[in-house]
Amino acid sequence: MFSSKFAWGGAWMGVAVLTLAAPFCAGAAQSAERDPAPRVASDPHRDARIGDILKQASPERIQKTIETLVSFNNRSTISPQDEDAIRAGKGVGAAREWIKAEFERYSKECGGCLEVKTDTFTEQPVARIPKPTEITNVYAVLRGGDPKEADRIVLVTGHYDSRNSDTLNVTDPAPGANDDASGTAVSLECARILSKASTEKKFPATIIFLAVAGEEQGLNGSKHFAEMAKQQGWKIEAVLNNDIVGGNRGAGQDAGRLRVFSEGLPTVATDAEIKRIRSLGGESDSPSRELARYVADIGRSYNAGVKPLLIFRLDRFLRGGDHYSFNQQGFAAVRFTEFREDFNHQHQTPRTENGIEYGDLAKFVDFDYVTHVAQLNAATLASLASAPGAPGNVKILTKELDNDTTLTWEASPGAAAYEVVWRSTSAPDWEYVQTFDGTRATLQISKDNVIFGVRAVDAAGHRSLPVVPEPER
Ligand SMILES: [Zn+2]
Repeated sequence: MFSSKFAWGGAWMGVAVLTLAAPFCAGAAQSAERDPAPRVASDPHRDARIGDILKQASPERIQKTIETLVSFNNRSTISPQDEDAIRAGKGVGAAREWIKAEFERYSKECGGCLEVKTDTFTEQPVARIPKPTEITNVYAVLRGGDPKEADRIVLVTGHYDSRNSDTLNVTDPAPGANDDASGTAVSLECARILSKASTEKKFPATIIFLAVAGEEQGLNGSKHFAEMAKQQGWKIEAVLNNDIVGGNRGAGQDAGRLRVFSEGLPTVATDAEIKRIRSLGGESDSPSRELARYVADIGRSYNAGVKPLLIFRLDRFLRGGDHYSFNQQGFAAVRFTEFREDFNHQHQTPRTENGIEYGDLAKFVDFDYVTHVAQLNAATLASLASAPGAPGNVKILTKELDNDTTLTWEASPGAAAYEVVWRSTSAPDWEYVQTFDGTRATLQISKDNVIFGVRAVDAAGHRSLPVVPEPER
């Protein structure tokens, strides 16, 4: 159902005047649609079922997942993965087998609803991989229940490999509790609660739960997986990469916030596309950034216990992560990372020096925080997998100079209506929204002064990702 905290209080004249108004009551979608007053885009949408699903996320389960992954001692991608090591419960192979068994267990509990798969390949020697090494990504597919929507995919990932102070060390402990057993635990917990929920009612689109290896050696696992997805023509609409989401217990941490990193200019943009982006002022409207704004919308709509903090940057300063592998193949992908990292607790061989305890140990992880991160991920995945696909071929008509703006788009299957969202060119997030029935909208707003997007909405109010229009001459 729709609701709104604010109503339009003045004509658009470059500066909007907003006045507080009584909220639309639940069930007011029809009247809201006819209301000529655009509302701010912080109008939250809540699906009670998704709210209930989030309550299933368990800090105890997440703690057990993280502690189990730590128990494999050293999950370096180049650590032993032969039968003996797996039997001894040590190394990356043992971790891989355990993750696979977890996915299979969830699948058993949902009547075989998950397809559990591996993506295995041999990486030839490179800087951080001294000899040919088999790398395995493990994933579970929750196939969409609507044949028309099932080829649309949303994906959550974390990396299960770890490292200590020496990238090539495979014997000393490399607990990797925060980096990135926490992200792996998010992927697993989303698989558990969303697969369970699907036994009552399937999500229309497909959700993939992924755990990759090779991140610490050079994003090798995610690179292979994203390339495979691209080659096979998978329609991945959103990738949520969780890396260092443990909420390290330490000074300066903010357990109420989660950073969301997204690229500005698309990695794959050609020179001609960069030129067009520059001329249209589209530097902050990559598909990945629209996904980040979608996550912000989810953060306003559901009480996940953690609020997204959008960072308009590909990743942390001069550092990288698995979402970039997906960006390189043209997929929308964002990275989630805790508010404040503690560098004594990542990529460190456990030890105490000068009274400082180093090491990425489970005791520094805030399991409640990881649970909240899992809830935000699950709400995003469930919303996108429930929503219609984004409208296609969205255009802004520019044949004649005009102070009004006309937008057109192609109908999206399953859409009950469409929302045009817009914001001032200097605003970080969508500010206003107006609902339309058809596939054409004229607004008395100058395209010179704002950025528009169009999204599809189903009868229950699930929103697609917004699409920024291309000019049509
Ligand atoms: Zn990491």
